[in-house]
Amino acid sequence: MADREPIGVDESTPSIARVYDAILGGTDNFAVDRAIAAESLRVLPEIGDVGRYNRAVLGRGVRCLARAGIRQFLDLGSGLPTAQNTHQVAQAEAPGTRVVYVDKDPIVRAHGRELLAANDRTALVTADLRDPGSVLEHPRVRELIDFEQPVGLMLVGVVHHLNDEEDPAGLVRSYLAAVPPGSHLFLTHFCASSPDAAELESVLLTDLGTGRFRTLAEIEGYFQGLELLDPGVVYLPQWRPDEPVEPPLTVGQRLMAGGIARKP
Ligand code: SAM
Repeated sequence: MADREPIGVDESTPSIARVYDAILGGTDNFAVDRAIAAESLRVLPEIGDVGRYNRAVLGRGVRCLARAGIRQFLDLGSGLPTAQNTHQVAQAEAPGTRVVYVDKDPIVRAHGRELLAANDRTALVTADLRDPGSVLEHPRVRELIDFEQPVGLMLVGVVHHLNDEEDPAGLVRSYLAAVPPGSHLFLTHFCASSPDAAELESVLLTDLGTGRFRTLAEIEGYFQGLELLDPGVVYLPQWRPDEPVEPPLTVGQRLMAGGIARKP
């Protein structure tokens, strides 16, 4: 079973999870990751804030779904554990909520295991979301997720790590096809919203090999056929903010966009 594979962390090759951790100010990263985080910071000094906007909207979105009655979450590209992870936010609202985290990076399992050891409603699976069959048929996923009941399908900060030829829209559709009506898609994504965003895309594509910035219209396209919750697909700080956000938004505030939609 994938969960029992040995840990294989390569310190000489940058990893998306570790670069994101470095950007968020974490310590689970190596020099190769920090170099990309530093270059990203040079191009976009607000990059640390962007990571925090994404984590903050993750919390607001999960809370919203939990309050709407979603009791099981499939969090694809979940990343390294940090503050206010999906299961903590969801289970604070409804303790019986089940959460399966999926990430392809072995470092995520290495660091997530301890956090989840005492929580039998939460699992972490090491798998590649580009292979929906292996994710959807994984024994831990089948154990915790009832595909007859609505699912909170999360693709937060990960679809931009799928290149165009990997058919991100087709992959999103495959996951949506596996969940029943009443399920929700929660997706956030790098947005092609400024010249600085284009420069950062170029850094990430060159140094990390991934990081596609897509337009608001392209991001909206992932929600095709679904019912978008208010306020639709917007820049992250504008999605149901706790405090009003004053325009004009900064380059960093416009660097990512996303939304939540219900499958009819
Ligand atoms: N969802 C978290 C958040 O928004 O805070 C983490 C986002 S982090 C930027 C992206 C994560 O997606 C990384 O941990 C990376 O390993 C994972 N990832 C990237 N491509 C993946 C793939 N094909 N399958 C599974 N996980 C993937």
